[in-house]
Amino acid sequence: MTQEELFKSLIAHAKEYGFIFQSSEIYDGLSAVYDYGQLGAELKNNIKRYWWEAMVRLNENIVGIDSAIFMHPKVWEASGHVGAFNDPLIDNKDSKKRYRADVLLEDHIAKIEEKIEKEVEKGSKRFGDSFDEAQFRSTNPNILRNREKADDITRRMNEALNSNDLEAVKQLIIDCEIVCPISGSRNWTDVRQFNLMFSTQMGSVSEDANIIYLRPETAQGIFVNFLNVQKTGRMKIPFGIAQIGKAFRNEIVARQFIFRMREFEQMEMQFFVRPGEEMKWYEHWKEKRLAWHKALGLGESKYRFHNHEKLAHYANAAADIEFEFPFGFKELEGIHSRTDFDLSQHQKFSGRKMQYFDPETNESYVPYVVETSIGLDRTFLAVYSTSYCEERLENGEERVVLKLPAVLAPVKVAVLPLVKKDGLPEKAREIMGDLKFDFNCQYDEKDSIGKRYRRQDAIGTPYCITIDHQTLEDGCVTIRERDTMAQERVPVEKVRGIVDERVSLRKIFEKI
Ligand code: ATP
Repeated sequence: MTQEELFKSLIAHAKEYGFIFQSSEIYDGLSAVYDYGQLGAELKNNIKRYWWEAMVRLNENIVGIDSAIFMHPKVWEASGHVGAFNDPLIDNKDSKKRYRADVLLEDHIAKIEEKIEKEVEKGSKRFGDSFDEAQFRSTNPNILRNREKADDITRRMNEALNSNDLEAVKQLIIDCEIVCPISGSRNWTDVRQFNLMFSTQMGSVSEDANIIYLRPETAQGIFVNFLNVQKTGRMKIPFGIAQIGKAFRNEIVARQFIFRMREFEQMEMQFFVRPGEEMKWYEHWKEKRLAWHKALGLGESKYRFHNHEKLAHYANAAADIEFEFPFGFKELEGIHSRTDFDLSQHQKFSGRKMQYFDPETNESYVPYVVETSIGLDRTFLAVYSTSYCEERLENGEERVVLKLPAVLAPVKVAVLPLVKKDGLPEKAREIMGDLKFDFNCQYDEKDSIGKRYRRQDAIGTPYCITIDHQTLEDGCVTIRERDTMAQERVPVEKVRGIVDERVSLRKIFEKI
């Protein structure tokens, strides 16, 4: 199965089992907006809990808030979003399709990089054990030519975007001979800037209504509350403020399922530090965040850092944690050293002092900020797409199994009476009545036990317990593990301990 087919199957699966639905589907949907169904909401809540507790509970100096989506319009002037939260867009005149000019170029560069990697792979096969990769990369003429090409395009792209030279961006697209994937033509419009913020009005009478924006990031709710939290929480620098919430962006091209949505959720943490100490904290948070991701067990090689060469004007360092999605490595989380830009801007625009008096140095200053900003929906996609497996079993049967990290699984235990009679349902209900105080459980008595196991595999339930006639005599149940399908007979009192061992956050927290 190609990656594309696999991606299609997992999108269909997400709908079939109640993880993700298209928004307003009965009206043919709304582009790049999605609803989370009964199991999707559970999985999403579990990801949120993992993030929130890792931030707020495990770090004594980080607290969490929940600020409003609507904010004073001046916030977005101060933050620079009104003036500069733009993407460069370009249309193909033949297909009438719209693209982000920078993404067209980045995809083109990625293709060249792919060629380089293929060449390395070929070399490695050809030379076997004696293969010296570093030497090969620095001498192979094809690699050198492509390296130069990719570096040259990257340099020209960064220069053009940094100086907002849209003509140069278009020229680069022409020089690279990039064609529209739909029409195959190079008939491009000029490149224009497009502001990504959604706006609406606030006020009961339209004449005096104010334009306000749906926040495009949650971070500003933290900056404007910096003093409130610092004072009421008696916080001492360094300290952090965390938040999970909705953000809205009128994305030009919204594709790839929940990877790029117009309404999405972010989990952000702003860490306030002494000026001059930001690089230390930037490195600290890069390492901490990567460890958080890896502890989920999706595979160490699935993650990589991408250090930004092109920095936003307020940043003095920035990196993405990229994840290998079914469509390649893409940004999952950003870690940015934002200097004192945001607090200073709010100080300027609001006229309020956004300073901290440091009792250790006896000085007042505007703190510097290191932020970690992760997309909840992208994390969902990373977890869900990596867990989706189509397996052929030894007996020739096929099963679809979601090998979700057990701690994130929507349902932890399925309680299954072998038959619908002889007192087995009553016993099963009794067992479930106890387990549900600790875990999200699902009761199922319909169809054969094999079919019920498959249904639980398909939604990623780590354990099924089966209650049979013998249970009534000896108080033992069969517990079946999702990935190995191994079955074991255990006294019912042991079930809680077995499940807890695998699904509690504690085990994961010990790793990070
Ligand atoms: P991209 O380059 O992919 O547009 P970005 O650099 O604009 O992302 P940030 O502003 O750094 O993204 O936002 C932080 C995080 O929020 C991203 O790492 C991503 O996980 C998430 N995110 C941003 N835009 C979207 C979106 N349209 N849909 C879903 N998640 C998003």
